[in-house]
Amino acid sequence: MRISEIFESIQGEGESVGKVALFVRTQGCPLDCSWCDTKYSIPFEKGEEKSINEITEIIRTFIENKKGIVVFTGGEPLYYQEEISNILSRINYQNVEFETSGIYLPIEKLYKYKFNVSPKLSSSNLSGGKKIYQKIYSNLNKFLNLNSIFKFVISNEEELKEVELLIEKHRLPKNRVFLMPQGSTIEEILYRSKFIVSFCIEKGLNYSTRLQVLLNIK
Ligand code: SF4
Repeated sequence: MRISEIFESIQGEGESVGKVALFVRTQGCPLDCSWCDTKYSIPFEKGEEKSINEITEIIRTFIENKKGIVVFTGGEPLYYQEEISNILSRINYQNVEFETSGIYLPIEKLYKYKFNVSPKLSSSNLSGGKKIYQKIYSNLNKFLNLNSIFKFVISNEEELKEVELLIEKHRLPKNRVFLMPQGSTIEEILYRSKFIVSFCIEKGLNYSTRLQVLLNIK
C-alpha cells in the first residue's frame, strides 16, 4: 500500500489530544480541501510503496515500546481499509484510531476501532461540489453507530451556523462533536479559537485545539 509517512508524535487534535501516538499517514485522498495542510498526501501515485509486513513491524515495535495510540491518517486511510484490516489482524491491539473525512464507509472488520470523522464544510470548496458533500453527510448515520467523534474544521464564523444545522439534521450527539480551528499558524489558531470556544460554551459542544501547530511539531 502507498504510504506518505510514518512518525511518532502526540495526538494534537480531538478527544485523545496529548496521547503519545504513532501516525501512519496513507498516501492518496479523493478530496481536495482548499485548506488541506497535508497536500503532499493527496496524489495517489506519490509517497512510497510499503509492504503489509513492513508496516506491521513498525506498529508492533511502537506498541511494544510505547503502548500509545496508533493513528491511521491521510490522505484518506479508509481507501486502504482492507490492507489496514489485514495489518490489524496480525496485531492484537485495540488502541487504534482513524482520521477520516467520512467519504468511505468502514468495513465490518474495523468496527471495533475509533473513528475521528471530519465532515467537510463549505470553506473546503470541494471540487466535486454538492454531490460530494451529500455523499459524506449521508455516511454520518453509519459512523453514528460506531465508536466515533465528529470533528468539524472551522474557518469562519458563518460555518458555525452550518455546523449547527448539520448537528440538528443528522442528530449528532453534542458530546461527540468537536469544533476545531482551521489554520497552520499560531495566530490563525488563536484568532479562530476565540469565537469557536464562545460558541462551544453557548451550545454545549467540545472544542479541539491543534496542538501540533501551537507547538510547531509534526
Ligand atoms: S480530506 Fe484531509 S487529506 Fe483529504 S484533502 Fe481534505 S484535509 Fe486534505
